[in-house]
Amino acid sequence: MRIETLAVHGGHQVDPGTGAVTPPIHLSTTFARETDGTYPHGYSYSRTNNPNREALERCLAALEGGAVAAAFSSGSAAAMSLFQALSPGDHVIAPNDVYHGTARLLREVIAPWGLQTSFVDMTDSVLVQRAVQARTRLIWVETPSNPVLKITDIARVSEIAHRGYALCACDNTWATPILQRPLDLGADLIMHATTKYLGGHSDVLGGALVGKVEDDFFQRIRKIQTTGGAVPSPFECWLALRGIQTLPCRMRTHSESALQVASFLEGHPGVEAVHYPGLKEHPGHEIAARQMTLFGGMLSAQVKGGREKAFDVAARVKLFTRATSLGGTESLIEHRASMEGPETRTPENLLRLSIGLEHPDDLIGDLAQALG
Ligand SMILES: *Cc1c(COP(=O)(O)O)cnc(C)c1O
Repeated sequence: MRIETLAVHGGHQVDPGTGAVTPPIHLSTTFARETDGTYPHGYSYSRTNNPNREALERCLAALEGGAVAAAFSSGSAAAMSLFQALSPGDHVIAPNDVYHGTARLLREVIAPWGLQTSFVDMTDSVLVQRAVQARTRLIWVETPSNPVLKITDIARVSEIAHRGYALCACDNTWATPILQRPLDLGADLIMHATTKYLGGHSDVLGGALVGKVEDDFFQRIRKIQTTGGAVPSPFECWLALRGIQTLPCRMRTHSESALQVASFLEGHPGVEAVHYPGLKEHPGHEIAARQMTLFGGMLSAQVKGGREKAFDVAARVKLFTRATSLGGTESLIEHRASMEGPETRTPENLLRLSIGLEHPDDLIGDLAQALG
């Protein structure tokens, strides 16, 4: 089946009890046992499993072409669970421009627990290879990256991981399975913040891990999920599954509009640089064109006039909302450096844009008046 069909039907079935076409939300935390002690429907307690969570997990596995998925209460809880499935003393290689929350997680929460991380420029395979150690068990890829949309060759990095004893995991939040399928390119695991495009409406926090195979390592992830309990509520699962139904259409529109906005900004005299992998001049364009079907809805621009001008532009926009996050129907603008805090590597004149589903001409008009 094609991905558009999987997005609509994955994890869905007409409710056998009522005939409801849209799935019911199962709020019950506990499920009845038979007299012999068994659970006839396979559910016992909602932390362990729940029909809404199971439906979401089945859908996510299908979309990514994986064997199995585990849903979490946030993208960060998903990442955390993957790191915890490794062992103290193990070594991880992560991009030096990894999502700032993931960097903080590795440095401030996971490092004291005993996992070592090397942060490298993931777009340079020589540097990635050089960072591999005897205890390297995981190479973490995030592409396109945040906020300058660097592109990492997933097949290349997976190959480096597999030359040793490491798994390759890809944070596929920005591309989504509609634009990029890391498991097909050689990755072993995928992480998602369903908070973003999968949920798609800025109204649900969630995360997931998808495994290519349901092996011992994924069983450890499952144990951390069900024992640690960082699980999403039934309603959150329902919202994410509902969002996924329109994901293919949304990603097409986000991508088409982002390309138009990027092209406009590229030609604007007040703009110093535009970062969008769909532009031919982007250093990762060739790899992106190979491993993605479209280039996504995220872009960033560096304005002439430094931090002050960037704040001024963000203050003048009327359609864009000044807010963090991404992947909703509404367009957002963000001064990223001030969001990331003092350890940021992001240029002070950079604005990150999440292009929503408004008409691109209206978005371009808004940016034109704001840039002056
Ligand atoms: C938002 C985001 C995360 C974290 O997800 P939360 O749901 O906020 O915990 C991780 N990676 C990327 C690329 C993100 O955009």
